[in-house]
Amino acid sequence: MTDPDEVAASWPDRRPVVLRGGTVLTMDDAHTVLTDADVLVTGDRIAAVGASLEAPEGAVEIDATRGIVMPGMIDTHRHMWQTAMRAYGADWTLTQYFVWNYLEHGRKFRPEDIGAGNLVSAWEALEAGVTTSVDWSHNLHTPDHAEAAIDALRAVPGRFVLAYGNIQAGPWEWTADPAFRSFFGRHPADDMLGYQIAFDVTGDPAFPEKAAFEAARELGLPVTTHAGVWGATNDDGIRLMHEHGFMTPENIYVHAATLSTDSYHRIAATGGSISVSTESEQSAGQGYPPTWQVRRHGIPVSMSMDTSVWWSGDLFSAMRATLGADRAREHLEAHMKGETVTHHALRAEHVVDWATRGGAHALGRDDLGRLQPGMKADVVLIKNDASPVSFPLVNPYGHVAFQAQRGDVHTVLVDGRLVKHENKLVGADLAAVRRTVEATVDYLRSALGEQAWAAGMNPDLPHPQVLDNPYQYTEFKSESTHGARGSLFGEDS
Ligand SMILES: [Zn+2]
Repeated sequence: MTDPDEVAASWPDRRPVVLRGGTVLTMDDAHTVLTDADVLVTGDRIAAVGASLEAPEGAVEIDATRGIVMPGMIDTHRHMWQTAMRAYGADWTLTQYFVWNYLEHGRKFRPEDIGAGNLVSAWEALEAGVTTSVDWSHNLHTPDHAEAAIDALRAVPGRFVLAYGNIQAGPWEWTADPAFRSFFGRHPADDMLGYQIAFDVTGDPAFPEKAAFEAARELGLPVTTHAGVWGATNDDGIRLMHEHGFMTPENIYVHAATLSTDSYHRIAATGGSISVSTESEQSAGQGYPPTWQVRRHGIPVSMSMDTSVWWSGDLFSAMRATLGADRAREHLEAHMKGETVTHHALRAEHVVDWATRGGAHALGRDDLGRLQPGMKADVVLIKNDASPVSFPLVNPYGHVAFQAQRGDVHTVLVDGRLVKHENKLVGADLAAVRRTVEATVDYLRSALGEQAWAAGMNPDLPHPQVLDNPYQYTEFKSESTHGARGSLFGEDS
């Protein structure tokens, strides 16, 4: 395991930093955009934003011309431990995921494997300009697992929220464990690391989760819950939470994709927010990505990537996918009524807001998500002079949402510290992280056995169905066409 003190010692001191001459998305209340502007950071705060700022002696000067300066992005739901098996589940549905998570690999994860996943995921987030991540850590089946999770988060200079959970037992069980309670006493929250309690509400009329909500309340911690997940959680869970008085503004409802209008009303009325994981919802089966409905209820939205066992871990992808899903649904709904959408309701500017301010709001952090004097200095510079995609820069919100990607993240500051500069992470011993993750993969693979490992990664293809085509060019049947189609659809011949 990496020694957190050793790693922390390698982080650069907080010298003042000034980013010069960029296009600055302040994300203030008016969403002010400044061109040819500077952002000055002193200590852990934004000191000033404006033209030709005076910088203190010894300040690090960063050329932000031809770049976009924006607040650090915030991911409100990421199962960081699962990054240890990056891409393994690319072809899964939720059904395969549940088998893996509850019955197979999930149970096999040792404390060091949770730590390995968190470590690589934490660096990955920073590398993509995600300065705050909620680690939805629902596989902490012993106190040692929780210790390993937090050690890894503390070893990386990002801002994190450990959402403590345990899928291997009922939430009323593990929240009653004295070791769970004492964990928070041993590891007090601070500015860089906060807590939530993470569990799902099944809709059982006996509402056994009540005890877990009470435990969270005693500890003064918010609850985050997967809500409106097809086949898993539904309106009953929301209703039970509401009837028992556990719907509060601090709650984060993840996905919220298969809920009725009544549930959205309950969420809106109690001030909670929804964490949308569009890449996940589009392909796993929780339900259609819900922003097209949620925005009509005025419910605050934040963004998340869910898990890198399937998807990417960067919010550029989240913004892109969310715009696409929202607009696709809007067009589809209109077409079904014979109508045409002439103006989109969801704009690039909105998803940039959700990826920054939206996350800060969800976490109750009004000192994050904006570039204004006095705010915490979590700053991202998007700039890549070597890429033709970096110009022309005419619509900065559009550029962030549809053009930029993680490789274009030039500089990242967290709490006033440089953690990525000139497109490279600072102070990250990636070779050591890689060895840690590889050891976990080797262990899981051997613990599961080669056959189960391969089967888990390659779910059976459904029987192929190629429709009869009434239009036939009778002489047209090239070998190569047939061969390509045959392999694509898994045909025998
Ligand atoms: Zn999730």
